[in-house]
Amino acid sequence: MSVSHWQADGTQAIREVDMLVIGAGLAGTAVAYFAKQAGREVVITDMRDIALGASGRNAGFMITGLDTHYHRAIEEYGKDVAFEMWDLSRETIRFWKKIAADYDVPLKNIGSLLLSESEKEARDIERAAKALSEAGIEAIYHDSDPLKRGYLNAIEQPLDAAVQPYKLTQAVFRASGAELIANNEVYSITQTEADEVIVATQRIIFKAQYVMMCTNAYSSLIEPYFQDKVIPTRAQVLMTEPLDKPVIDTCGYSNYGYMYYRMTFDGCFLIGGGRHKHMALENDTTEDRINQPVQQELEDYVRRYFPDVDKPMARRWAGIMGFSVDGLPLAGTLPDKPRVGFAVGFTGHGLAMGAGVATRAVNRLLHGTSAGAVDISRLDTMPSKTN
Ligand SMILES: Cc1cc2nc3c(=O)[nH]c(=O)nc-3n(C[C@H](O)[C@H](O)[C@H](O)COP(=O)(O)OP(=O)(O)OC[C@H]3O[C@@H](n4cnc5c(N)ncnc54)[C@H](O)[C@@H]3O)c2cc1C
Repeated sequence: MSVSHWQADGTQAIREVDMLVIGAGLAGTAVAYFAKQAGREVVITDMRDIALGASGRNAGFMITGLDTHYHRAIEEYGKDVAFEMWDLSRETIRFWKKIAADYDVPLKNIGSLLLSESEKEARDIERAAKALSEAGIEAIYHDSDPLKRGYLNAIEQPLDAAVQPYKLTQAVFRASGAELIANNEVYSITQTEADEVIVATQRIIFKAQYVMMCTNAYSSLIEPYFQDKVIPTRAQVLMTEPLDKPVIDTCGYSNYGYMYYRMTFDGCFLIGGGRHKHMALENDTTEDRINQPVQQELEDYVRRYFPDVDKPMARRWAGIMGFSVDGLPLAGTLPDKPRVGFAVGFTGHGLAMGAGVATRAVNRLLHGTSAGAVDISRLDTMPSKTN
């Protein structure tokens, strides 16, 4: 966001902090948790409050893996990276599950089903299942539709889960022991020669030893560095009033993950996605508002695959995801500000990747350790897409 002369008038209080985390979503609270474990004193600041970005607006699916099939991930990133990402995702889900258990966050171990809608997708699902099996990753292949709703085949991932994501983020924050300064927009970040980072915000000018940006979709609004690396992308959801009985007992997703649905803990049917036919409307925007074309896609899907969902729609909402330029999250430090780290670009999979990336980003910032497959250095070999 741009900042006016009147807002940045330099009258803000000055405060020295050890480590400042910008963004109180899943990534920021997890970064705070791991930084505190590493012995840092952490303050989180957010322009809104905890989990009011994508982290409190998502569908709550903890789905192992990336937003692509396993065999495609191998083709795109190579065997080792694909395996590393699935492993990172399992590590992340284990972490959230522990926090959820410790803090009484609603979570159900109901697994997931990745379902095919077309012959082409069915062939991809079959290939993905074979690749997962060869890699020794737990997944069950169904050669017909386990839901009996008109899909062709499916992959079942038994370790996946459904969670209440708003409460989960709050719980990670509580577990971190960090201090929160809410309703405080960050305006700019400067690193001085004395290895101090000055972060100008709405109410405070912070002088920090270390800063971590966990601003996902909004990152380029603070640092232009992210302009061609993290693309804000809208996702929308709709939810019915409580049904008389559940129509599904797992997390379902189909059409290459573009459609996803589950029951909420209070018995409502929730469905998200539908942006694949409306990319021009949904890509490159930070406006979290719903629109008719995507909501219509969701309603049409319910009518086609879930005609037994017979209650009226109760709520519709949107949120903004940060899609990375190559589909993998990004952890690193800013090239001209080595004391400013980042954990961004979750590409619609923050519940699958957030904690794993957060811990690597903290180690990268504090100790210079490579973040592996999610390290920003990989983009050095894609010059056409980066600065
Ligand atoms: C509708 C929808 C459904 C989704 N479903 C799933 C799902 O089922 N499973 C899954 O794994 N992922 C899902 N996602 C993606 C998931 O929600 C994100 O990957 C995850 O929440 C990213 O977490 P984050 O902390 O990086 O970002 P956010 O939660 O967006 O946090 C970024 C924070 O930065 C703050 N901020 C930004 N700019 C500034 C500034 N200038 N100053 C101060 N603070 C600032 C924002 O206020 C925000 O709180 C979904 C997303 C949406 C929108």
